[in-house]
Amino acid sequence: MMIKQSKIDTCVLIVDDDSNIRGSIHEFIGMAGYKSFETSSAEEALEILKTNTIHVVITDIRLPGMNGLELTDLIKNRYDTDVIVITGYIGDYSYEEAINKGASDFVSKPIRFEELLLRMRRVLRERNITKERALILAKLQDLAITDGLTKLYNSRYFYKQLDSEVDRSKRYNHPLSLLFLDIDHFKHYNDTYGHLEGDKVLARIGKAIKLCLRKMDTAYRYGGEEFTVILPETSRGEVMTVAKRIKDAIENEKFSPQSGKSVSITISIGATEYCRDERISGFVQRADKAMYLSKQRGRNQIST
Ligand code: GH3
Ligand code: MG
Ligand code: MG
Repeated sequence: MMIKQSKIDTCVLIVDDDSNIRGSIHEFIGMAGYKSFETSSAEEALEILKTNTIHVVITDIRLPGMNGLELTDLIKNRYDTDVIVITGYIGDYSYEEAINKGASDFVSKPIRFEELLLRMRRVLRERNITKERALILAKLQDLAITDGLTKLYNSRYFYKQLDSEVDRSKRYNHPLSLLFLDIDHFKHYNDTYGHLEGDKVLARIGKAIKLCLRKMDTAYRYGGEEFTVILPETSRGEVMTVAKRIKDAIENEKFSPQSGKSVSITISIGATEYCRDERISGFVQRADKAMYLSKQRGRNQIST
């Protein structure tokens, strides 16, 4: 995974009340191929930041109103922007002060433009590395909770989510419901058409379940051919509506494991609502039992 931010996409904001210095930096950075804004005060810089995506701010520390360190502090609290600060000849601010405020680097006057450019490029490089890492981490976190075949969440995440939804339901005294779904006679399907065709069914059923859900509901592959759905803010009556929608959607899917053949699949569903203060294991077992009741009653149905 590579994030490449081209120069022209990189936007720099130069803040200095000395128009000569500001202008020179602006010109130099422009020649190096970067887009830049310039302004003479921290207050104006904050206005520009409100409406523009700025990747790097280069600011003088000494400014007429708010100074560059205070500006750095505000920027670091509000935006995903790097700051390079410039100090005066006298060295009245230290490197430590600037870095402690969150500045990414520090240059002193008289400015050597080549040095400023090198420092800015290093800051941009680090920025990209950080972004790449965050993306990889997010991707890994996603993989850790997702079932590869169905793209639904996995059972590990099911228990984690159920835990927090039960907590929420208790805290606010809101209803919470759970569905258990199991494909009917799936062993027979596998034995007849092969495991690979069975996998296709699982993937498509995963998709079909997802399409039947409302925004707040989440679906999981609980085990081999078993699925669960957590439905927050949902009482027993409403959960039946969702269950029926899923049952019908799956019944209407047509599978063709062999050319010219069209096969339907059915599922058995168990639905249940959380009873106040019961243990999670009891809640899960009740949904599982309800599903088995559907099996016993002849499959392709919903029980509570
Ligand atoms: P029932 O209606 O009682 O649920 O019958 P069933 O055949 O669906 O139930 P059983 O529990 O006997 O068999 C489950 C089958 O699910 C057996 C197994 O081959 C299949 N299965 C489980 N995981 C996978 C998988 O990842 N891919 C495929 N293709 N099949 C799977
Ligand atoms: Mg099963
Ligand atoms: Mg089954």
